[in-house]
Amino acid sequence: MMIKLYNVKNRTKEAFTPIDPKNVRMYVCGPTVYDRAHIGNARPVVVFDTLYRVLQHTYGKEHVSYARNFTDVDDKINAKSIETGRPIRDITNETIGWYLEDMNELGALEPDFAPRATEYIAEMITMIEELIEKGHAYAAEGHVLFDVNSYDAYGALSRRSVDDMIAGARVEIAPYKHNPMDFVLWKPSNDKQPGWDSPWGHGRPGWHIECSAMSRALFGDKFDIHGGGLDLQFPHHENEIAQSCACCGDDTFANVWMHNEMLQVEGKKMSKSLGNFFSVRELLDQGYSGEVIRFVYLSTHYSKPMDWTIKKAEEAAATLRKWRMITDDVIPSDIVSPAIVNALADDLNTAGAITALHNLAKCGDAALLKSSAELLGLLGDNMGGWVKAIDFDLSALEKMISTERDKALKNKDFSKVDYLKLTFVSAGLDVQMSKENVTLIAGPKFDSSLLEDLF
Ligand SMILES: [Zn+2]
Repeated sequence: MMIKLYNVKNRTKEAFTPIDPKNVRMYVCGPTVYDRAHIGNARPVVVFDTLYRVLQHTYGKEHVSYARNFTDVDDKINAKSIETGRPIRDITNETIGWYLEDMNELGALEPDFAPRATEYIAEMITMIEELIEKGHAYAAEGHVLFDVNSYDAYGALSRRSVDDMIAGARVEIAPYKHNPMDFVLWKPSNDKQPGWDSPWGHGRPGWHIECSAMSRALFGDKFDIHGGGLDLQFPHHENEIAQSCACCGDDTFANVWMHNEMLQVEGKKMSKSLGNFFSVRELLDQGYSGEVIRFVYLSTHYSKPMDWTIKKAEEAAATLRKWRMITDDVIPSDIVSPAIVNALADDLNTAGAITALHNLAKCGDAALLKSSAELLGLLGDNMGGWVKAIDFDLSALEKMISTERDKALKNKDFSKVDYLKLTFVSAGLDVQMSKENVTLIAGPKFDSSLLEDLF
């Protein structure tokens, strides 16, 4: 099968040819660990987890390596440590635990490598030394800076010129910088900040160097795919490319660059001031299952902004419930439907793959539906707990409210009907009443325990 991916580096969709099909390598920038992951942070996780599955399906599980780092040295972590009085290591360990737990609920497989920046300080120092030696970096006042003028292709990924960057960016002007766009590879630490000894004094690395050093340590100078959110394209990825290519050679580092677009909530940019800023955990606690969240994410192509809406979540829950009913107790087929494979091979067209799954569900091919959905991380046995929780006989409730309605039509007292309706809605049921019928549909927040008093 031929996989095509949109390569941001060339702004074209290209046939993907791994450097070594026996060792396909993908690096994705991971979180800075000081707080719960918000729902925007989870989008690259779901997107690249799906790509990981497609690569494994194509090249074989043992031939694909996926690395996603943890940034566990950062000024935001230091600030949190000072604010809470807790040791940095406690904060980063706890946050990494939360992250893995939350992403597991979204059905994300654990990557093969999850390097922590603090475990690769020696590799970062080595790389910085090489950059200085080759004339691409300079030490000044305890700092080491990358010299952007020394690297011709700086700005090629994000297609910006250095002059435009200076005009448009709020760059930190420091007297020791040769060019305002020069960025930090190493900076000094005081005794309250985490630090390591280096040829430039006691200090800590800048953020960008860690991904260059860790991907090199794990994958070598050249590997296949580098991914992350679109917000990382500039400056983070631009700086990673500059460091790695200046250090190891022009034709090195990642061949294919992929970025997922951002996430919105009900059509608006997520922001704390708008009150639409949720962590993944908050969404799970609101009663949306990880599988429903994953389905909503995958229903939009990764290159388009994704709008999280309650309506989409409810539709996703209804679809998944239906599919799980069809595939209950079914042994998945050995093969995946070609329509789903083709959609995913076409620049990870997850929305197209979901349409193809709907078609399989319509045809009633349960075994193929299950095996095909699993390629998207859906309908797995480990993800279905939420459906079992609402495996509840709604027909008894439908009968109950119908009977009360018949009585009310005669005696003109609708109070009991209104009470039942209110109770159903509060328990998370959608109540659809027509002249002949009453239909109850369980929404994603359905809680049967709230109905116990009725029996
Ligand atoms: Zn990175």
